[in-house]
Amino acid sequence: MIRLVRSAEPPALAVARAKYLPLARAADVDERSKLLTKGYRDAALVALFEMQHNKCCYCEKLEEQAKYRDVEHYRPKSVYWWLTWSWENLLFSCLECNRDGKRDCFPLAVGSTRLVAEDEPPGGEMPLLIDPADVAFDPWNEIVFKPVRQHGLERWLPFGATARGRETIAVCGLDRPRLLDLYRAHVLDVVRPRITPVIEAATREDPRVVTKAWSTARRRLLGAASKFRALSRDAMNQIVGAHLCDRFRLETGPS
Ligand SMILES: [Zn+2]
Repeated sequence: MIRLVRSAEPPALAVARAKYLPLARAADVDERSKLLTKGYRDAALVALFEMQHNKCCYCEKLEEQAKYRDVEHYRPKSVYWWLTWSWENLLFSCLECNRDGKRDCFPLAVGSTRLVAEDEPPGGEMPLLIDPADVAFDPWNEIVFKPVRQHGLERWLPFGATARGRETIAVCGLDRPRLLDLYRAHVLDVVRPRITPVIEAATREDPRVVTKAWSTARRRLLGAASKFRALSRDAMNQIVGAHLCDRFRLETGPS
C-alpha cells in the first residue's frame, strides 16, 4: 500500500451530496438504504481512478476494466450513512479487497469512541484500517514485504509493522493466495530484471553503472503509476542488500 495524494473534489459529487444527503436525513431506515446506492459512483469514479493511477487503494493491483472497479467507502456507508457522498471518504478499490475482504468492517483501536450520525471524522475514532490518503500516516512504514520460502518457492508476504498495518492486512486480505501469486510474479518478472544489473555492476566494482542502473530501476518501479510500488521498494532494498545499499549510497527515496 502506498500513500495517495487526494485530488480536488469533482463538482458532480457536490451536486449529488446536495441532492441525496437531505433525502437520506429525512428517510426511514429502508428508504435510506436505497438512497445510499445513488449518485456517488458516477460522480467520483473517474476522478478516483485518475487520482490512483488505475490502482486499487489497498492492494495496488492495476484494474483496467470498468467491471472490476468499485467506489469504496473508507468508513462504510452502511454505518456512516452521512459520509456516503463525502469526497474524503471515497477511494477506488478492487472487488476482492472491497467485497471479499473489507465489506462493512471498520475496526477501531481500544479507547476509541465511534462517531454518531452527522459527526465529522475522525472525532474520537482511532481507525485500525489504514486510509492511504491520510496525510498523517505513511503506509510504507506500516506494512513491510519480506521474502519467505513456501513449498520450495520464494514468496513475498506483507507483514504489519504496526497494529494498523496488521489489521489492514487481515481486513482487506492483502495476503490472500491470488495476490501472493501476483506479488511473486511481480518480483520475478519485473523487479529482479531491473535489479540484476545493479548487483552485477556492484560485483564488478563499477559505481557509475551501479548508480545508473539503480536510478533506472527507481524510475521504472517506483513511479506514481507503477503497480505494486510498496512491494517493489521493499524487494529492491532486500534483493540488493543493506551492505551494497550503504556502500553505493542507494536509496529508494520518500513515498
Ligand atoms: Zn485491491
